[in-house]
Amino acid sequence: MKLNMEKIVNYAKTLGFVYQGSEIYGGLSNTWDYGPLGVELKNNIKKLWWKKFVQQSKNNVGLDSAIFMNPDVWVASGHVGGFSDPLMDCKECNTRHRADKLIEDYTNQEVNAGGFSNEELEAYISQHDIKCPNCGAKNFTDIRQFELMFKTHQGVVENDQSTVYLRPETAQGIFVNFKNIARTSRKKIPFGICQIGKSFRNEITPGNFIFRTREFEQMELEFFCHPSEDNKWYTYWRDFCFDFVKSMGVKQDNLRVRNHHNEELSHYSKATADIEYLFPFGWGELWGIANRTDYDLLAHSKQSGERLDYLDQKNNERFIPYCIEPSVSVERLLLAVFIDSYEEETLDNGETREVLHLHPDLAPYKIAVLPLVKKLGKKAEAVYDLVSKEFMTEYDTSGNIGRRYRRQDAIGTPYCITIDYDTLDDDTVTIRDRDSMEQVRIKISELNEYFNKRLKL
Ligand code: ATP
Repeated sequence: MKLNMEKIVNYAKTLGFVYQGSEIYGGLSNTWDYGPLGVELKNNIKKLWWKKFVQQSKNNVGLDSAIFMNPDVWVASGHVGGFSDPLMDCKECNTRHRADKLIEDYTNQEVNAGGFSNEELEAYISQHDIKCPNCGAKNFTDIRQFELMFKTHQGVVENDQSTVYLRPETAQGIFVNFKNIARTSRKKIPFGICQIGKSFRNEITPGNFIFRTREFEQMELEFFCHPSEDNKWYTYWRDFCFDFVKSMGVKQDNLRVRNHHNEELSHYSKATADIEYLFPFGWGELWGIANRTDYDLLAHSKQSGERLDYLDQKNNERFIPYCIEPSVSVERLLLAVFIDSYEEETLDNGETREVLHLHPDLAPYKIAVLPLVKKLGKKAEAVYDLVSKEFMTEYDTSGNIGRRYRRQDAIGTPYCITIDYDTLDDDTVTIRDRDSMEQVRIKISELNEYFNKRLKL
C-alpha cells in the first residue's frame, strides 16, 4: 500500500523522524528538523553513499569545501545573473508558481518544461488553459525570472563588496579545488571528487514535505575524464547510481531513468538523465546525472586566470578534462526509501501492523533490547552494553512486549532481542526478525557474531 503525503508527514513526526522546523514558534515554512530517528537514517544514507562512492572506488576521493566562496566563483559558474526560475503570480489569490512546474504538474509529469523559454512557457499555459492550482483562476502575471541564490554579507560592513552567497550546489567547491586535488592526491585521470554538504536555494515553490526545501544536503561526485571517454563514463555513472538506489532496497517498479531530450539540456550539459521515483504525487527527480563537459573548468580558468588543465605525462598531452556529475540530495533519497519501505501488513490473526522494511544498512536502530519485565533490567542492560558497542541499539522497557515489537517494526528495527526468565538460567535470548517475525534462541556470547554476519554498516 502506498502512503499519501499527509500520512507520511504525520508518520515521520509521530515516530521521531522529522519535525516541522521552529515548531513552537509556529514554524518557519518548509523547514524541517530531523529527530533521533531521522538523523540516524540521514547519517546512514550518507555513510552508504560515501562507502560506495569513495571508500570502494579506486578512482574517487573526498572533499569538504567551505559553504561561503569568493563571489567570482558564482560569476564564473553562471549562477550570478543566470540562476533563476520562471515565476508567475496568480493575480486573484496572490500565490506564486514556477511556470515550468505548473505545466509539468498539469501534464502529470508527461511534459518536461525545464528547457522551455519564457515565451514557450507562457504560450503553453495559455493554449492549454492551465489554471491556478490554488484558486482555479486563469489570471497570471507575465513571467519574470526569480534569483535563487541566498545572499548575505560577510564582516561588519554591508555593501556590494561584502556580498557573499550561500552555495546553491556543492559542485563549485569541487571545481575550484580540481588543481589542488590533482596535484596532491596522486590520482590520474580519470578520477572523481566526492562531497557531501548543505546547499541553499530560495525555491519559489518548495513543498511536498522534504522533496523540495530551501536548505538541503547534496551528495555530489564530479568525475573528470578524457573528453574522448565522456560517453562511456556518463553511462557508467548513470547505471551505477541506478544500481545504488536499488541496493538500498527501493523497488525497481518505482524507479525509472528519464533521458533528457536535446531541447531540455542546460547550456553546460551534453547529456543529462534523471533517475526518478514514483512518489505519491507522481514521478519526481531523485538523482540527476549530467555530462557537464569542460564547461566548469574552462569557466573557472577564464575567471580566475589559473590554468585548470591536465597534463597526461604518459601521452604528453595537455587537455581540459570533461566532467560527469551525479548529484542527489540526502532528503530526496530519504523520502524515497521511507515511502518505499512502508507496509501496512495484515497478519494471520487479522491484526494489522505497520512496518518499515528498511534495508538493515539504513535502519536507524539495528537492534532493540527488550526485557520481558522490568525485573530483568539488569541482565538486559548487560546485553545492551554488549551489542551497543558494535551496533546502534535501542533499549525499551515500557509497555507490553507485543506493543514494543510493533513500535520497533514501525521504525524499521531489523532485530529485537528479548530477555526473559530463561535468560537468567541459561544465558540465552530470543532474537526476533522484523520481516519474517520468526524467532531464534541463541547464547548471549554469540550475539555479536550473529549480528556481524547480518549487519554490514
Ligand atoms: P528541479 O528541476 O527539481 O528544481 P534541478 O534539476 O534544479 O531540480 P539539480 O540542480 O540537478 O536539480 O540538483 C541535483 C539534485 O539535488 C536533485 O536531483 C535533487 O536530488 C537535489 N535537489 C535539488 N534541489 C533540491 C531541493 N530544493 N530540495 C531537495 N533536494 C534538491
